[in-house]
Amino acid sequence: MPLGSSPFNGSDSKRQRPLPIPRTSAGMTTFTPDSSTVSDVIPSANYGDRNKGRLPDMIVLHYTGMPDVEGAITQLCSAGTDVSAHYIVLEDGRIVQSVPEARRAWHAGVSSWSGEEDINSCSIGIEIVNRGHDWGYPDFPSRQIAAVTALCRGIMLRRNVPSHRVLGHSDVAPARKKDPGEKFPWHSLANSGVGHWVQPAAIVRGETLKLGSIGDDVRDLQLALARYGYGIPATGKYDGLTMEVVAAFQRHFRPARVDGIADRSTFTTLHSLLSSLPAEALAVAAK
Ligand SMILES: [Zn+2]
Repeated sequence: MPLGSSPFNGSDSKRQRPLPIPRTSAGMTTFTPDSSTVSDVIPSANYGDRNKGRLPDMIVLHYTGMPDVEGAITQLCSAGTDVSAHYIVLEDGRIVQSVPEARRAWHAGVSSWSGEEDINSCSIGIEIVNRGHDWGYPDFPSRQIAAVTALCRGIMLRRNVPSHRVLGHSDVAPARKKDPGEKFPWHSLANSGVGHWVQPAAIVRGETLKLGSIGDDVRDLQLALARYGYGIPATGKYDGLTMEVVAAFQRHFRPARVDGIADRSTFTTLHSLLSSLPAEALAVAAK
């Protein structure tokens, strides 16, 4: 803090910046927010009906991946972009809702989890404002994480979303997406009952499976990842997709090293997660 300045100088320093409301949203019908944590409603033009009335039982977390919040809100709310999310969480902790939870927002794209492919129909999408890997990938401020946690807790209670169905975009689209990324503090959310988490096993030297490996060990790894929910066939070949799925797993559950190589720590962490899942969660994915 510069000499002579004080956090208590006048009220202006505490006043929050007004939210950037895209012109295209100005005439749109507003709605009552679903969550008491919401500070502003900025209706998006981009949404539809959930397929066959599917009720959401999953939360997908994203980062916006854009240089500034104005651009992100414009992108998520303006007609013609074909993208949206139910919620946008700003760096200062304010929460904007732009699609009612009852509607299908367009956040996940081509995705899959536990054998289900229309992730937009079964999920609630939350965009967390962060510039992302292409723009320096800053840390997530603690106020923002507290806001995401409170929002998720409310959704989980109201919608009966189990912890193991709070996921990252990279989990449901590992070949295309990295968000919210390895800096996202999943362990802090888990301390508040949001998301499934076990302490990652320590990284040690030893044998690994990696690109080019072939055999039953690779097949067992693929089956274990699929049992957890990842969209991966059991081919027995450690191909590009296997590497991307392992990297997505590490980004979420073993963030100390994200290299797409299945080392001992990756295996151990995956198996502790599987053994701490409720039985009904395992029934779906194994095929
Ligand atoms: Zn995303």
